[in-house]
Amino acid sequence: MIRLQQVSKGYAEGRQWRQILNGVDLHVRRARFVCLTGRSGSGKSTLLNVISGIDCADAGLVSIDGTALEGLDDRARTLYRRKHLGFVFQSFNLVPTLTVTENLALPQELNGKVDAQHSANWLAQVGLAERGNSFPDELSGGEQQRVAIARALVHAPRLLLADEPTGNLDQRTGEQILDILEALCEQSGTTLLVASHSAEVARRAHCVIELADGSLRTVTAP
Ligand code: ADP
Ligand code: MG
Repeated sequence: MIRLQQVSKGYAEGRQWRQILNGVDLHVRRARFVCLTGRSGSGKSTLLNVISGIDCADAGLVSIDGTALEGLDDRARTLYRRKHLGFVFQSFNLVPTLTVTENLALPQELNGKVDAQHSANWLAQVGLAERGNSFPDELSGGEQQRVAIARALVHAPRLLLADEPTGNLDQRTGEQILDILEALCEQSGTTLLVASHSAEVARRAHCVIELADGSLRTVTAP
């Protein structure tokens, strides 16, 4: 499902170059739940952005479900992401001028098909059935995170990339979200790559990988 070969990515910082990813190799099969750990600043978000095509690698190959991202132009990459990928951002990225229900409709509109019942089901799944008409700034951080998770899943992506999805949630809500993600993986065959410091995420994942000094190592194998 995910295949990275010798992926590198760095940023210029003033006159210095900082190499964040340095020849990263990764292979994740379909329907796996992988936990990505690593110190703050080790490049977890950078790696997720490169896999999603939000950001481009400087070198190396990224292929998702057999599609090489390098071979797609910006437009094709955007279309691909809309259709096949779900992304839960660390900072939620909800559209502040849209209600919760409208935020959920957005990824469906972009794919040309809005199903209000489907959105309502997802809101209920994340425990926010009553909040469809609220605006993001009327919700707590944890509630916004749950909307962001529903939004990432409403178009049934084959691959879900999540950046600290339980970081803003209390333990019980975090566990409920993980229950949903686990079920999705088992029942729908969705592949999950979740950047997280949570011991609970690591415990539930099939495999834990750690980013350090620009490289990935396997902490617990499948
Ligand atoms: P993590 O998610 O593991 O905390 P990040 O991928 O967010 O790490 O960041 C890794 C490093 O790359 C950090 O030092 C960060 O400052 C730097 N970085 C991330 N994005 C950019 C950017 N757009 N421009 C410059 N530096 C960046
Ligand atoms: Mg990060």
